[in-house]
Amino acid sequence: MNGNPSFTKRLGVRIIINARARLSRLGGSLMAPGVWEAMQDAGRAYLDMGELHERAGERIAELTRNEAAYVTSGSAAGLVLTTAACITGTDPAKMDRLPHIDGLKDEIVIHRFQRNHYDINIRQTGARLVEIGNQRTTHTWELEGAIGERTAAVMYFPGRYLGANILPLEKIIEIAKGRGVPVIVDAAAQLPPAENLWAYSEMGADLVIFSGGKSLAGPQNTGLIFGRKDLVAACRMMGSPCYAIGRPMKVGREDIAGLMAALEYYLSGGEQAQVAHCEKLTEFLLERISGIAGLSAHRRFPNELGQALPEVVAELDEAALGLTREEFIRRLWEGDPRVEVGPDGDRGFYLSPDPLQEEEAEILIERIKEVLASR
Ligand SMILES: *Cc1c(COP(=O)(O)O)cnc(C)c1O
Repeated sequence: MNGNPSFTKRLGVRIIINARARLSRLGGSLMAPGVWEAMQDAGRAYLDMGELHERAGERIAELTRNEAAYVTSGSAAGLVLTTAACITGTDPAKMDRLPHIDGLKDEIVIHRFQRNHYDINIRQTGARLVEIGNQRTTHTWELEGAIGERTAAVMYFPGRYLGANILPLEKIIEIAKGRGVPVIVDAAAQLPPAENLWAYSEMGADLVIFSGGKSLAGPQNTGLIFGRKDLVAACRMMGSPCYAIGRPMKVGREDIAGLMAALEYYLSGGEQAQVAHCEKLTEFLLERISGIAGLSAHRRFPNELGQALPEVVAELDEAALGLTREEFIRRLWEGDPRVEVGPDGDRGFYLSPDPLQEEEAEILIERIKEVLASR
């Protein structure tokens, strides 16, 4: 899967040593074993895409202990479709009105401190965000007060978006359910553990979103929506090949096949392989980084994204090194090969072994040493 693809060479696009995360900006993930073969296989015939979506959804739901499932083109598309589904239900006339939804349930309740760069994809349905909570805390009465006749759903982001000022999901589900309002969980990056594929649904979330191009290592342009049969059906009714708000968020048969292969792999050893890879490389990187003057390093678990994976965090002694953290990160990025690491706190950076390939680990250490020596 690794190496220098010939087309990047032809185009003059540089490959990157990715020690940060499986980011869309960097290409998502490297595909899991079997994914590419499944995609090629699926591309060999015509079929009815509606039928494929239904059968694949059933199989995926069965594999993940969910009531229903739908393959979409990523978690951002998942936000659009789940939000839209909570506004329109399965009513095609309402679907046809989006994003002009005056008179429909048009409000999504969200913690002010969970708002993030993806909320445009909630808002593009026409929904308005109704915020609860503040920097210190969120009271249950704020949620109770925010839910009204116009509430379509409560949106929740686990993992890195959690904090002491965010209501626990159990509490949110209890309050929202008591008022007949669905709860959507965007768990895009929250794997491992694989149990999360069903844990949020089992807690009572009505719709749950995961990316196919992060830990699952499926095609980058895929994602999964799990949840209640009626709401998942509404998502499907709004996705390609149907003509509605999700029509531009098309997945092809190759993408569906690839994501299914990735999911099957993840559930039958892929997760353990990911964890073992991260443990091994964390140990290696920690040992090597600890030997470099001016850096002090430690292991962090869970990682920056809130995944059950270890990573290495290092602090720069900027004064002793005569180099700021920003300059350090910039030089890593501008060097050859390009290296991407994550900033951490004021003076630190982190190295995630998750997107890093084993044969790149030594090169990464060498690049770090070079940058520190070249000030
Ligand atoms: C990554 C991410 C997304 C976007 O996922 P794609 O599959 O790239 O569309 C959405 N929400 C959250 C919380 C994410 O971490």
